[in-house]
Amino acid sequence: MNILITGGAGFIGSHLCDALIKNHSVICVDNLFTGSRENIKHLEDNKNFSFVNHDIVEPLAIDEPIHQIYHLACPASPVHYQFDAIKTIKTNVMGTINVLELAKQKKAAILLASTSEVYGDPLEHPQKEEYWGNVNPIGIRSCYDEGKRCAETLMFDYHRQNKVDIKVVRIFNTYGPRMARHDGRVVSNFILQALEGNPITIYGNGEQTRSFCYIADLINGLMKMMGKEHITGPVNLGNPVELTIGELAKTIITISGSPSGLVRKPLPQDDPRQRMPDISLARKALSWEPAVSLMEGLGKTIGWFKESLGRTPCH
Ligand code: NAD
Ligand code: UDP
Repeated sequence: MNILITGGAGFIGSHLCDALIKNHSVICVDNLFTGSRENIKHLEDNKNFSFVNHDIVEPLAIDEPIHQIYHLACPASPVHYQFDAIKTIKTNVMGTINVLELAKQKKAAILLASTSEVYGDPLEHPQKEEYWGNVNPIGIRSCYDEGKRCAETLMFDYHRQNKVDIKVVRIFNTYGPRMARHDGRVVSNFILQALEGNPITIYGNGEQTRSFCYIADLINGLMKMMGKEHITGPVNLGNPVELTIGELAKTIITISGSPSGLVRKPLPQDDPRQRMPDISLARKALSWEPAVSLMEGLGKTIGWFKESLGRTPCH
């Protein structure tokens, strides 16, 4: 098959390219806003791989047939999606329309990488797919949260009106090798701080919770979802092991053997207080659940960051 991945040069997208290229031709579309050529450098000589430098806010014209589209293009870390909030909304709304038009034209199945952020600061815990969320429509996270909610709406409207074959997955915090060093996400921040012996920056009191999924498990879930006929989703994909940000900091300090201490910083506006997926649907419909423990996944991620710091030091 010919498979197109928007956002294919990013963290998750580049791992998806690696997995899909084993059996398919892969077209990676990316404007390199938060992704990098470095993430896909090892694929560029592969005759089944092509890279298109394109901003999906502009319509997308592809000559060859396309059978499947994984739509991932969108900055994912708060630092990056808030950098140009209007652009983030355009990417989610205009970009998703452009990618859906391509899916319609090519009669391709399309999977949207939506997010746990559609649940906002959730009042139900853990979060099930039926929960409609608690989202501030005018805050600093809204460009991403409401942008993704609108992208989901567009997916279902194209499905109802144009019979496009859609799949919507809601991804919970995912981590692993190739996370961008300075995108401000908690796992990459804490690992870099620990490896460099700098204080670990805890926002707020560190009691807020998240659930972290290792990249290999997520990629497996995305491919299983695409492979299932007649399932539109939304389906939660994430690791249902919940921990506080304070506990995450201590775990990273322990695994990396770091001398770092902790320092408190202000909690950003609308930072969700708790987040944990209910993955009953993914278990039942996709026979999927995460296999990599937090200790194992963090060990691999710390190893990758160590190696990458050795290649190009931060300072
Ligand atoms: P990332 O920032 O590493 O990857 C996003 C990619 O999209 C980058 O390569 C970037 O250059 C590209 N991109 C951004 N705007 C674009 C545009 N207008 N046109 C073309 N390309 C554009 O982030 P990621 O963690 O790999 O996330 C990938 C997707 O998964 C995103 O849609 C994100 O919302 C979703 N997601 C990720 C997580 C997570 O924990 N990593 C959680 C929930 C949802
Ligand atoms: N966080 C933190 N220190 C950091 C970066 C993030 O305490 O250096 C916190 C942040 O406030 C949030 C959690 O970690 O409560 C996860 O943040 P991230 O930006 O990784 O993802 P998201 O908030 O989108 O889940």
